[in-house]
Amino acid sequence: MKTMVAARLHELHKPMTLDTIPVPKPRPTDVVVRVKACGIVPNMANVINNWPSWFPHQPLPKFPAIFGLDPAGVIEEVGEAVINAKPGDRVYVSPLRSCGSCKACRSGQRSQCRYYTLNGYFSTSRDGQKIFDLYPYGGFGEYMTAPEYSLVNLPDNISFEQAGRFGYLGTSYGALKNAGAGPGQVALIDGITGTLGVAATVLGLAMGLSRILGTGRDEELLRRVKALAPDRIEVMRLGEGSSGEWAKAMTGGDGADFAISALGAKAPVATMLDSMKGVRRGGKVVNVGGVADDLPIDVKWLMDEQIQLIGSNWFTTAQGQEMADMVATGTLDLSYLQHRKFPLSQVNEAISGLKDREGGFSNYVVLP
Ligand SMILES: [Zn+2]
Repeated sequence: MKTMVAARLHELHKPMTLDTIPVPKPRPTDVVVRVKACGIVPNMANVINNWPSWFPHQPLPKFPAIFGLDPAGVIEEVGEAVINAKPGDRVYVSPLRSCGSCKACRSGQRSQCRYYTLNGYFSTSRDGQKIFDLYPYGGFGEYMTAPEYSLVNLPDNISFEQAGRFGYLGTSYGALKNAGAGPGQVALIDGITGTLGVAATVLGLAMGLSRILGTGRDEELLRRVKALAPDRIEVMRLGEGSSGEWAKAMTGGDGADFAISALGAKAPVATMLDSMKGVRRGGKVVNVGGVADDLPIDVKWLMDEQIQLIGSNWFTTAQGQEMADMVATGTLDLSYLQHRKFPLSQVNEAISGLKDREGGFSNYVVLP
């Protein structure tokens, strides 16, 4: 039997261990991917340390578990019912798993499925273990199985390390799509220096936004974000006045077309509330970040101003493919990512070292 090495978590608050286990065989509609890189998002440390106490309604896979949210690699083998994918294809594996047959899944809105589960991460469903049982392999292993519906084809000009960032790039892209982002618009991005914030900025530029207003805490990182497109980006330090008033002032009193809340885990809800007031009448507020609290909102203001508050979560495989296609044509520039590469044997160091990263510019990847 062919074996592989995978990092597995046997217990909360203990390091993952490198275990030798059999290489999986694909079920009929699945493929087996040889993982070349797997991105680690800043929230991974929260998931493996704090999730069961922070968000008990979002269960982890049962232990020992192979985590790893954002794998990219090469298809090794395909199941007998796989039609389009073939061995040798370079792919990003979107971890979004769902039942595939409910009303939401059949309409292409898999993130609205009650079984919605992020492979190698956590489930949004109390019944998520059913999905984890079908897909027990995350990206922190040499091989993994994946359903054909999860595959994004990678053009040659995307490296596996860059593709390992597609999860949070796509999360920001999904938020921009939900905001109706397009040419001529002004965006306000709260938390612009973080993983989601820098991604939303780069994608927003690619999608033709006229201006991007962004808030953050770190002055040096704010300077680097502005340098991405000095003529189209303005930044403000959080804590130095009202972000909502600033956004209105920067738009001649109108407000931004939409705001994206991309703040870090457990960020204060007051920051989000302030920025909401920076959108124009009829504008949208999309939450994609880490604020996790009740939002005290004046619903009459919401009605009078016709503001839409939207929760956005992950992205479709089709949107993942759109991002890959934008990179292929040069519309989307991922050269801002600074890769910090770790072998699988240093996966624990990689996860715990993320606090030292340079905001959304750092890309921590494990190379199994
Ligand atoms: Zn479903």
